[in-house]
Amino acid sequence: MKFLVFFLGLLVRPQAVSLARRFDSEKVFRVTPQNETQVNFLKELASAVQLDFWHPDSVHHIVAGTDVDFQVSSYLANHVQMKLEQNELQYEILFHNLQEEIEKQFKGKSYFLKKHSYLKYNDWDKIVAWTERIARNNPKMVSRIEIGKTYEGRPMYLLKVGKETGRKRVIFIECGTHAREWISPAFCQWFVKQATSTYGKDKEMTKLLDSMNFYVLPVFNIDGYVWTWTENRMWRKNRSNNSNSDCIGTDLNRNFKVAWGTESSSDDPCDEIYCGSSAESEQETKEIANFIRDHLAVIRGYISFHSYSQMLMFPYGYTYKMAPNHVELVNLIMGSSPGFSKMYKLNPASGASLDWAYDEGIKHAYVFELRDHGRYGFMLPESKIRPTCKETMLAVKYIASHILASAP
Ligand SMILES: [Zn+2]
Repeated sequence: MKFLVFFLGLLVRPQAVSLARRFDSEKVFRVTPQNETQVNFLKELASAVQLDFWHPDSVHHIVAGTDVDFQVSSYLANHVQMKLEQNELQYEILFHNLQEEIEKQFKGKSYFLKKHSYLKYNDWDKIVAWTERIARNNPKMVSRIEIGKTYEGRPMYLLKVGKETGRKRVIFIECGTHAREWISPAFCQWFVKQATSTYGKDKEMTKLLDSMNFYVLPVFNIDGYVWTWTENRMWRKNRSNNSNSDCIGTDLNRNFKVAWGTESSSDDPCDEIYCGSSAESEQETKEIANFIRDHLAVIRGYISFHSYSQMLMFPYGYTYKMAPNHVELVNLIMGSSPGFSKMYKLNPASGASLDWAYDEGIKHAYVFELRDHGRYGFMLPESKIRPTCKETMLAVKYIASHILASAP
C-alpha cells in the first residue's frame, strides 16, 4: 500500500517542483562590510570558495557600507559563517534552506494546467500564448513581431504597442535579461495590459500611446527563463554552449558591444558575469542589437528591467565619466517615483545593454532594479507583483512623458 501511495504521489506531483537542481540547506547570507578591510576580506573569501552573488551581481561591486547578498552551498555554509564571525562582519541569514522557498513558490502550481495571470509568474508557454492573444484582442493597438530566434531556437517575440498612426517615436522596453529575475517579465506583461486597458481613460497613457510606440520585449533571455522553470530556479545566463568549457551560458548583459570584456565582467565561462567569446557572440544579443540598429532613427528611449534593490540607474557603467546629459537624467529620476527611493549611477559593468543603447545615440536610457530590498530577493512572492508593477508603472509613465516632451 505504501508503495502505491508513493507511486501515485510521483504521478500527481507538480512537474516544476522536481527541478533537477536542488538547493537543500543552501543559505543566502546578507553581509554589510563596514570598511575596506572587510570588503577585501569578502573579495578574498569569494576567490577561495564559491559564492553566488545575488546583489550586487558580482564581487567587483562590493562597497563598504552597503549590503551584499550571496548564496552558499550547504557544505560551505558553516565554514562561511565561521569566517564571517572570525572577521567580525555583521551578517544575517536571509534563507536557511533555499529549497524550501523554491518549493513554496512552485507549490500547487501545476503550472502547465493553470491559466495566464498578471498576478502570477507565468512560464514561457503561457507568455507566448499571451503575446498572441493580446495582439489579437487589440488589433489597433498591439502587434506581435518576431525579431529572431534564441540559441535553442525559440522565437523572440516583441510587442509593438501604440495607436497605429504613421511614423512615431519609440521607447524600447526590455525585460527578462537575467533568467531568475522573474518579476521583470511580470512587469512587461503588466505594462502591456495597463497600456491597452487604460487607453482612452487615463489621460497620460492616452497621450503617450497616441504619440509614441512602445516596443516591449517581454523576455529577452528566453532559454534561460525556461531553464529556471524546468531545471534550475537560480539560473541567470543564457543557455549557449561554450567551446573549451563544460560551463554553459553567457551573461547577456555583459555581451553588448560597448567597452566589451573590460570593467566588471569575466572571461571565465563558469562565472555568472561571463561576457561571452566576443561582443555580440550570443544569438539573443545579436538579434536585439540588430533590431535596435535598424530602428535607431525612431528610438528615443531604452528601459531595461532587472531585480532586485528598488533602484533606478542610468549610464555609464563602463566608465566613471558622466553621461553628457547627466543632470537631465538625475533630475528625471528624482521626480519619477517615490517607490524608487535611491538613485544611483549604474553599477560598474561593461557590455551592458543600457550603455550600449546610450552610445548608439539613445539619450534616455535607464535600468530599473525592481523589488524588493532583499527580504525575498529573486524569490519575491507573487503577492508583491501588483504593488511592484503599480509603482513601476508610475515611474515609467513619468519617464515616457518626459521623453515625449523633450526628444523630438
Ligand atoms: Zn539582472
